[in-house]
Amino acid sequence: MDQRCTRTSPEQNLCTLFLPVLAPLAGTTSECTVHMKQLFKVISMFALAISLFGCIAAPIDLTPETEQCLREQPPIRFLLTFDDGPSASSWWNPTATVLDSLALNPLQPDIKGVFFVQTRASRAGGSEQGRELMGREHAEGHILGLHTATSGHSNHRLLSPAELEETLGYGRADIASITGSPPSLIRPPFWNYDKRTFAAYQRHGLHVLLTDLSAHDGKIWGFNASPRRRANMLRQLSEVRERVARGELPVVDGVIPVVVTFHDLNRYTARHLREYLQILIDSARATGVNLAPKAFYDDHAELQRAAMARTVRDSSEPAALPGMWNWIWGSDSR
Ligand SMILES: [Zn+2]
Repeated sequence: MDQRCTRTSPEQNLCTLFLPVLAPLAGTTSECTVHMKQLFKVISMFALAISLFGCIAAPIDLTPETEQCLREQPPIRFLLTFDDGPSASSWWNPTATVLDSLALNPLQPDIKGVFFVQTRASRAGGSEQGRELMGREHAEGHILGLHTATSGHSNHRLLSPAELEETLGYGRADIASITGSPPSLIRPPFWNYDKRTFAAYQRHGLHVLLTDLSAHDGKIWGFNASPRRRANMLRQLSEVRERVARGELPVVDGVIPVVVTFHDLNRYTARHLREYLQILIDSARATGVNLAPKAFYDDHAELQRAAMARTVRDSSEPAALPGMWNWIWGSDSR
């Protein structure tokens, strides 16, 4: 590859508007680790502020040099993932709406995704409705990955070793009872893992899948809209395009999988999923990244290979977490 295509990446953009406010409240990243529980409240408050008022940088300009580098790379394909579900709601179930939209939409029929489920949460997979939906996800060719198997959305780093072992064992068994085999993918709640939890995942055959793009649609205090969804995706995809141009992302089955994260419990996401699919395609065109003729995965086995290729190999590997999470947890924890 042309050496100009492997230059080091520019500094990650942070929401500098809020950093001066957050810093005195949060302390250093190592203090964050110690005071995680208290910090969650602060994090939620500022995450809400950011989602409400926006703090999105303009997309990175496409330079002729990057354009040249992109010509040496295969096209990208979007690998869709959904966290926190399935919804236990018996009224206008958002997970069911997401599944309907993936199966039938004007862009590509029968899109397959990875659902990182909460198998025992009463508002998710711990309900009768939730169990039915996990069965539907599997029957329709999607992949079930593990998110939590506790009664709530627990941070695995706050669980004792015994509790973590127990919950991972439950999660594997819960999913195996639906799909016939234990899951191979896990997404740590709050994107938070360390050497200890990563080693536990490995003992259970679970591989960590992070994300390249995030809809930032985790529901916070009842506010679940995403008024700046188009600008958000555009900015993030321009960052991914730079990594693609530098040849940093693996090629699987002739394409570069780009992982996208949504939350299927979010009714706004469910209502707008078809629009989100269009936004992803439009963002690819606008940023100049090559998009495969099939923009989304529609084959279970291909999806599995692509997801596995994007998993974290080692807990000390640098991780690009979405939004402010990288800054909050810091790399020292890993
Ligand atoms: Zn989650």
